[in-house]
Amino acid sequence: MSFSSNLHSSQGITSKIFPDTSTQTQKLSELPWIKDKTILQSINYLHNLEFDVNDVKYIQSLNIILPVLSGEEAINFVKNSQINIKFARLPSSNIHAQYDFGNNCIIINEIYKNTKNPAEILAISEAILHEIGHAKDKDETNSIQEEIECLALNTLAHRIFNKKFPNIFANTNSPIVKNGVCIYSDLFFDENPLKSPLIVRLKQKYGDLPAGDFKHPPNTIALKVKDG
Ligand SMILES: [Zn+2]
Repeated sequence: MSFSSNLHSSQGITSKIFPDTSTQTQKLSELPWIKDKTILQSINYLHNLEFDVNDVKYIQSLNIILPVLSGEEAINFVKNSQINIKFARLPSSNIHAQYDFGNNCIIINEIYKNTKNPAEILAISEAILHEIGHAKDKDETNSIQEEIECLALNTLAHRIFNKKFPNIFANTNSPIVKNGVCIYSDLFFDENPLKSPLIVRLKQKYGDLPAGDFKHPPNTIALKVKDG
């Protein structure tokens, strides 16, 4: 369920990526219960996110059902479901984000609160998208297949951010970037058709979960993670 720096970017890059315009504020007013400025910045990037059509086709060819098909759809789900999104303490610095089903709340690890690191702000967008994927099925259970679906979402987002903001993720050691969002982008789009490195990673992180369930029928990758 949980999803995973030191970018010293120049001021120029920061202002280019994050123009503080009134248009942004207007869009964000659709979610008045979300107060944190950093979270709102991350949400704004998510709201404008459209996946690459070919990336989506590739992910779907792996028998992965995507919980949402755009950032806008994800944010509309947050709005309609009144999901809260905030920074709070999590049990470990290795847990970057979590969806608290009982409180209908996406929690981002408070170690990233007030970050000005643009790579982290985009990584938080990806983590929020991942957790929206978990919230979308409206149950508390989890499975390897559900994780694969949610990780595929943030991978699709990561590829777009990388194209929009070249090298933004390259010069940081931030854990949410280096041990989180960057890893899965490489693993999902690995040219090796067996996806062996992805399977090894998923086994380490999620091997204890069931392969899938009724809402998330396991694909070949999930079955290999569990039994292979
Ligand atoms: Zn997860």
